[in-house]
Amino acid sequence: MPLRDTKNRTCEHCGEKILGRSDKRFCSDYCRNSKHNEENRDTSNYMRPVNNILRKNRRILAQYNPTGKAKVLGTSLMEEGFNFAYFTNVYETKKGGKYFFCYDQGYIQIEDGYFALVVRESYVK
Ligand SMILES: [Zn+2]
Repeated sequence: MPLRDTKNRTCEHCGEKILGRSDKRFCSDYCRNSKHNEENRDTSNYMRPVNNILRKNRRILAQYNPTGKAKVLGTSLMEEGFNFAYFTNVYETKKGGKYFFCYDQGYIQIEDGYFALVVRESYVK
């Protein structure tokens, strides 16, 4: 087996130098497990379906709102499979109106079953 340069091997989780076998990727079991958990957090059994719903909601809103401002019937959104129970956050206006956001894409209920669509450009401040 060829010798490998082990001088610069560092732990993929904490960045500490790794001692011992040259094929090790982590300095300890703790770091290996931590990295594994981090990588899988986003795809856990609960988060995956929720993320999929949010992504779908966002895609539907974006589809109806290519210019950044639009008006659409709630029933049209629902026909596309929009799920009103899921959103990433709520923005309340001074007048008490509520914008619901799926990431950068937002909507607010207006009159006669219509929704006004908006896009928030710089999302988190
Ligand atoms: Zn480590």
